[in-house]
Amino acid sequence: MAETHAAGLDVTSDAGLLELIGAEDPEREEALFAAARNVRAASYGQDVYFRGLIEFTNHCKNNCYYCGIRRDNRRVERYRLSPEGILNCCKMGDLLGYRTFVLQGGEDPWFTDDRIVEILQAIRGEYPGHAITLSIGERSRESYERFFRAGANRYLLRHETAAEDHYRKLHPESMSLRERKQCLVNLREIGYQVGAGFMVGTPFQTPGHLLADLRFLQELRPHMVGIGPFIPQADTPFGGCPQGSLRQTLRMIALTRLLLPHALIPATTALGTISPTGREKGLMAGANVVMPNLSPKNVRKLYALYDNKICTGDEAAECRLCMEGRIRDFCFVPNLARGDYAGGVPAP
Ligand code: SAH
Repeated sequence: MAETHAAGLDVTSDAGLLELIGAEDPEREEALFAAARNVRAASYGQDVYFRGLIEFTNHCKNNCYYCGIRRDNRRVERYRLSPEGILNCCKMGDLLGYRTFVLQGGEDPWFTDDRIVEILQAIRGEYPGHAITLSIGERSRESYERFFRAGANRYLLRHETAAEDHYRKLHPESMSLRERKQCLVNLREIGYQVGAGFMVGTPFQTPGHLLADLRFLQELRPHMVGIGPFIPQADTPFGGCPQGSLRQTLRMIALTRLLLPHALIPATTALGTISPTGREKGLMAGANVVMPNLSPKNVRKLYALYDNKICTGDEAAECRLCMEGRIRDFCFVPNLARGDYAGGVPAP
């Protein structure tokens, strides 16, 4: 790693990584971000890939302590898009030029495997060349296989935290880190491009936990990594906890870029929520993907994983133009192609 070596950054040893995870000195941080930018440029140039995000249901059977659409939150108005509604979002997305659709939702039992398969087949029929990404949580290996055969190519399933003790503090007993990791392995083996990821600044998180996240990513070698700050949602058990720090999140993005040079890393909506230029800063720290919202305007506010989420009042077309302008202002180049993983097949 010539980049890191020249900048005096040690991203191999635990001690070196811990030093960078906690690097508060602005010059040190800037050296880290610059190295990450160089690695990103070597892998993907200045291109930033667009994905159209469709938040199609906020019903969820899980009860994660951090999440605003958790089962026990009685204050959230629930919605689900119909299969036709989802297809309409795809139509709009296609018109706007997107070649990747991301279907994300809570773990909603109404969307049985059969229904998801039908929706995938319909999208695949209309758009044979587009990438279809699912982000609908944990299902059986057989379900993931059916979705893959029906046309899904990619799957986002953040591991949330790679440390067992920490995972237990963020989730009820019915959920387990082992199960989550097994899902990621299954998805990989089936042939999906897989996205893992974690939140920064969740309650009880230590630098050691963040180190575990980096080590886990190195082991799994996912194609995509979603990293965003934790943001409290008032009606959850963590509603009174502080939000994750912008700079800590940026450092984790940069370190992930250095460890996984070809990863597709989004500058997340959560990052844009805690700082007006958070997403741009994410790109400057090594991210190379944005996911403008394609969900119908009337449901945007209801997909409230956390408070004060941005862009809930904009039309899909506005999101597209706004993101494009922001990206160009920072001398990046919007790329609307499918944007598949460019690193070849990573060794298991
Ligand atoms: N049900 C799907 C999608 C979850 S929502 C799944 O299980 O994968 C997508 C991501 O939002 C989650 O993986 C989590 O990392 C993030 N998220 C949830 N609550 C959040 C909060 N309060 N602050 C920041 N990010 C949050």
